[in-house]
Amino acid sequence: MSKVIIIGSNHAGIAATNTILGTYKDHEVTVIERNSYISYLGCGTALWVGGQLPGPDQLFYSSGDALAEAGAKIHMETEVKNVDFDKKVVKAVAKDGTEFEQAYDKLILATGSRPIPPSIPGIDLNNVHYVKTFHDGGDIHEALKSDDVKSVAVIGAGYIGVEMAEAIQLRGKKTYMFEAASTILPGYYDDAFTAEMQKHMAEKGVDIRVDEKIEQIKGDSTVTGLVTSKGTYDVDMVIVCVGFTANTQLGEGVIETTPKGAYKVNLKQETNVPDVYAVGDCAVVYSNALQDTAYIALATNAVRSGIVAAHNVGGTPLESAGVQGSNGISIYGYNMVSTGLTFKGAKAAGFDAAHTDFEDLQKPAFFTEGNHNVKIRIVYDKTSRRILGAQLASFEDISMGIHMFSLAVAKQATIEDLQLLDIFFLPHFNQPYNYITMAALSATE
Ligand SMILES: Cc1cc2nc3c(=O)[nH]c(=O)nc-3n(C[C@H](O)[C@H](O)[C@H](O)COP(=O)(O)OP(=O)(O)OC[C@H]3O[C@@H](n4cnc5c(N)ncnc54)[C@H](O)[C@@H]3O)c2cc1C
Repeated sequence: MSKVIIIGSNHAGIAATNTILGTYKDHEVTVIERNSYISYLGCGTALWVGGQLPGPDQLFYSSGDALAEAGAKIHMETEVKNVDFDKKVVKAVAKDGTEFEQAYDKLILATGSRPIPPSIPGIDLNNVHYVKTFHDGGDIHEALKSDDVKSVAVIGAGYIGVEMAEAIQLRGKKTYMFEAASTILPGYYDDAFTAEMQKHMAEKGVDIRVDEKIEQIKGDSTVTGLVTSKGTYDVDMVIVCVGFTANTQLGEGVIETTPKGAYKVNLKQETNVPDVYAVGDCAVVYSNALQDTAYIALATNAVRSGIVAAHNVGGTPLESAGVQGSNGISIYGYNMVSTGLTFKGAKAAGFDAAHTDFEDLQKPAFFTEGNHNVKIRIVYDKTSRRILGAQLASFEDISMGIHMFSLAVAKQATIEDLQLLDIFFLPHFNQPYNYITMAALSATE
């Protein structure tokens, strides 16, 4: 019987655990997790904080008990402190201080990521919050109940910052959102798209300040204000959403990492150390758009990488299909989805990039209600013609459309492949000259 240890049991670790337990019955699986819970859906934090969910209970889909019932040996509230990669031994400490060691044949590191604390004065003051764990969500939810908290600053306008800004505004607080870049959501969407979202958020009352860097959080013990590159603000609470870094301390000096600190893995999720795999937010992914490795911390990638590692551990060789970084966001009913590279991102990555845009009603104009405009941008390479990415935005639910573009990027379809693609028409859903075909046909470069 092969002994497998999985360190970390959130989305990546759970996927790996369930796959091994379900398919490879002859393996003994030990799971070590430092938290008291597993499977928290961070994507629900803003919904919970914003009062769009009755509470956090529905944000969990598994538990230590469920994994134990499925056959895993579970050590909850137990932290792995050290791994001896030569002797293949994991050293851990339980909550009550008990230390133990366990040997493995195969090790899966699923240790995830942690928020990056900006190095500015005042970052350790009371009422500075991060958004990662279930407890972070609870702390923010509770803190917002206080009438003393009148004004809140969200630092960083990536997708978590934007979601939190909406949630805080919905709680009736004066809400600022600061972003050092020139637009919100700079990593996922081009300016034409972010401008639209920025407008909708501003109309709802979120005070958005782009091109503005936080220099200091003011206060004696608790937050009272902010100093930025452009001014000073009175705020009672700060939510830091400036990104995540991979948790790779256990592999330090042994497992190779990228300059930004994520474990390097191949398509089988193998690290440079024999029999050691890394999955989820602690590792890189292979970007089909870039045709190179990248760090894209998403639950979807975490789950898939956990499954891939599990099959390789179980003895079935399997390679990751790579990722496109497909993502979506829905704020005040305005929906944006994207996959692959933005035009900005493609240019920055050195592609000879072009984009083709189109905007039209979702359905024929004779539908006068429930029929919104949809914006689409397709990014492609002028030389190879390869589709590099796509973005869609609307008050319509346009989410399903992006999956096709994800496949197009993964399979290296060209912009010409898309021009005469069979896309159905039914007035209840779309237009005879639909915006995907029209955008592809409008590609002039
Ligand atoms: C607010 C928020 C919203 C998000 N929304 C989305 C979304 O809408 N869609 C999407 O795809 N992704 C979303 N994400 C990203 C997604 O949550 C992460 O990509 C995902 O959690 C990564 O899963 P993971 O298992 O790799 O790592 P993590 O979730 O970071 O879990 C790692 C686990 O390892 C444990 N661990 C670490 N070190 C040790 C150790 N030494 N010993 C024992 N245990 C250890 C930790 O306690 C933790 O449970 C969101 C994230 C946040 C924070």
